[in-house]
Amino acid sequence: MDWTQEALEELEKVPKFVRGMAKKAVEKAAREKENTSVTREIVLEVKEKYFSMIGKENDERKTTKVAVVRCHTVAEVCPGVGCLKAFTHRKLNFQNYGPDTELIGFFTCGGCSGRRVSRLVEKLLDHGLDVVHLSSCMCMDEDDYPKCPFKTQIKKAIEGKGVKVLEGTHH
Ligand code: SF4
Repeated sequence: MDWTQEALEELEKVPKFVRGMAKKAVEKAAREKENTSVTREIVLEVKEKYFSMIGKENDERKTTKVAVVRCHTVAEVCPGVGCLKAFTHRKLNFQNYGPDTELIGFFTCGGCSGRRVSRLVEKLLDHGLDVVHLSSCMCMDEDDYPKCPFKTQIKKAIEGKGVKVLEGTHH
């Protein structure tokens, strides 16, 4: 679909990590209006409706809200210090976040096959959740941390709710 220059400039104001999602939502709105091109007005309408967190001015930046889901089995022996320290000090898989990023959830999957993940992600959406990190223990494949056989399924379930998923925390 064609975009006007003004519409593209408006899209550029959307943070990169949700820009792809925003673009799809805008084009869907344009099709629903039977428009053959995307105008600035349509972008603003969608931003108002779905992406109010983005802000209307360049300097109005939304705080990114992050959650970590971790392996229920590993949590029996791990209090989560590595994940939490990495977030607090913005290290490793959290290094791209700014100081105002909030950790709003830190929960275990509920056991194989990740039975509580969808439910808790839905709860966190009410609090503005943007990104879920799969803990490093879910993503590694070593003797102490055997690979999670349900990782892909859990990831898809979260992404299906419109939430970005990143793999890893402190490794
Ligand atoms: S589903 Fe994966 S992350 Fe959850 S307990 Fe089982 S192995 Fe661990």
